Amino acid sequence: MSRNRETAGLLPGLAQPPEARRVYLSFDDGPDPRWTPRILDLLAQADVLATFFLVGRRALAQPALVRRIAAAGHALGNHTFSHRHPWTMAAPTARKEVRDGAAAVADLTGVAPRFFRPPHRRLRRCMLEEAMRGGQALALWDLSAVDWGPLGAARTIARRLAATQAGDIVLMHDGGQGINRPAELVEALPGFLADLGRRGLMPALLPEAAERHAPRA
Ligand SMILES: [Zn+2]
Repeated sequence: MSRNRETAGLLPGLAQPPEARRVYLSFDDGPDPRWTPRILDLLAQADVLATFFLVGRRALAQPALVRRIAAAGHALGNHTFSHRHPWTMAAPTARKEVRDGAAAVADLTGVAPRFFRPPHRRLRRCMLEEAMRGGQALALWDLSAVDWGPLGAARTIARRLAATQAGDIVLMHDGGQGINRPAELVEALPGFLADLGRRGLMPALLPEAAERHAPRA
């Protein structure tokens, strides 16, 4: 067994690679019955861990898949219950989106999420308050794969991912709804993971201080 898998959950303090070489992979908008299993397979083949920011209602529709993500040792984050744009809701509804998203993860896995990522990166005070009250730290990202829309072709995704530096939180998407392009991401992901290994960069689970990160790309 690999070091990651062997120590995850047993000796949490020792499971993480040295800080100076860590990168933090994250996947948003899932779980997706078509794409999340593909990504889990690729992560397992590369023997690395990531953080999945789940949409609560999609999680409730795929309980076995959520448990598979957790059982593999990946971390689960809260990406709200329905992925509504944070600015389109009254405050009580916005708070409920955060609460219900976290509850879905907790109910399915028995573990409360420790990180919150708002849809569309829209920071709204009432939602951040609700996340903090639930014990979740804000987790944004440093580098986006932009694996969506017209710029989300595998070759350009690969080029963006190649710019990953030590300490970066990397945003990717396993959820295939809307304009996301997980098929393109899945094409680029094996090369990216192999490249990280060659460069001595080691994927790790998000640190508590995730909120210090501000997007670079
Ligand atoms: Zn999202």
